[in-house]
Amino acid sequence: MPVYEYYCSDCHTKFEALRSMASANEPVTCAACGGAKHVNRTITTFATVGSGIESFGGSESGGSASMPSGGCCGGSCGCG
Ligand SMILES: [Zn+2]
Repeated sequence: MPVYEYYCSDCHTKFEALRSMASANEPVTCAACGGAKHVNRTITTFATVGSGIESFGGSESGGSASMPSGGCCGGSCGCG
């Protein structure tokens, strides 16, 4: 059963309550003042520290060696 954090804006008190997930959104009374009108469930976020190391470079830009078209026996030299 998860523990939810609630915050009462009336008495500015943050308290925890052990509730089921089904009754998490149901109103809960404040543990300090007993009020239930301004008790909001605080959203607990988990900070995910991503260590993304991106490696750049490494790709040598090799020029595309274009083969010379034609050559000998093209008709102009008359070797064939
Ligand atoms: Zn309160």
